[in-house]
Amino acid sequence: MTETQSTQIANLPVLGEAAQQSYPTATLYVVATPIGNVTDITLRALHVLLLADVVACEDTRKTGALLTRFGLNKHMVAAHQHNEREAAEKLIARLHAGERVALVSDAGTPAVSDPGARVVDAVRAAGLNVVPVPGASAAITALSASGLVNDRFHFVGFLPAKAKQRESELSTLKSMAATLVIYEAPHRIVDCVEALAAVFESERQVVFARELSKLFEEIHRCTIGEALAWVKADANRERGEFVVLVEGATQDTDAGDAEAERILNILLAECSVKQAASLAAQITGKKKNALYERALQIKGE
Ligand code: SAM
Repeated sequence: MTETQSTQIANLPVLGEAAQQSYPTATLYVVATPIGNVTDITLRALHVLLLADVVACEDTRKTGALLTRFGLNKHMVAAHQHNEREAAEKLIARLHAGERVALVSDAGTPAVSDPGARVVDAVRAAGLNVVPVPGASAAITALSASGLVNDRFHFVGFLPAKAKQRESELSTLKSMAATLVIYEAPHRIVDCVEALAAVFESERQVVFARELSKLFEEIHRCTIGEALAWVKADANRERGEFVVLVEGATQDTDAGDAEAERILNILLAECSVKQAASLAAQITGKKKNALYERALQIKGE
């Protein structure tokens, strides 16, 4: 960037605009923070954090470090998955006293695979004001750069840690026409890809969005059949943070699965899980094991 360009940006009128807006007191502000690149904070988020009487956060050390990057030194209270309800009560008392409370998570948008929803629920139930301050979220960031053309997406978040449950959940998602958005931890990325390969057609497209907005950002698109080889080709691919996007089912698969589901339900009303799966496999030509797993789910076993 040239010096002229830097000066031009530093003097942009919009930079001062956030300061002119109103930030009511006695309000809970749900503030999105960056998912990697610290400069992805929004102007409004900076103002809210500056004005907040208290910042409720998952981890005071992490949020403290982020606030320091913005030159802020704020009073913080912990509101994490183990104390959200109790934290909410204390925050409500502060709101009743007229304070501005900013709620953040470690990264991205609170309440998206992160704590926050219980605090918001309690604050709203108390009749108090809640204002969202939008910003980064890994799911939306990954979708925007995936090139998967689909108006619909289904947010899966984290899959179950146990292999059987993971495959079973993926089976229920197989016929969905929407793009599937999965969050995955680096130590489970190989397990995740193996489960995808076991459940989905090998020609389905998958996108790995790794370390978004960070130094080693990588966005890779391939088929599910090629995915494991890609992950294993570089040890670094088992590190960092991942969003995994899976192309939605084509209409054919959708229709076929819906028909199998209909047949399975009819048979389950009359026969055992084993018999129903076996007959449904003969009628539809679909795999008996997958139908058996699905039949167990329908029966709640
Ligand atoms: N609240 C966050 C949001 O709005 O996206 C999500 C928090 S969740 C605990 C953390 C997961 O989000 C990671 O395991 C990863 O799947 C995804 N994630 C967060 N930051 C990411 C990044 N920079 N690149 C890729 N995935 C990321």
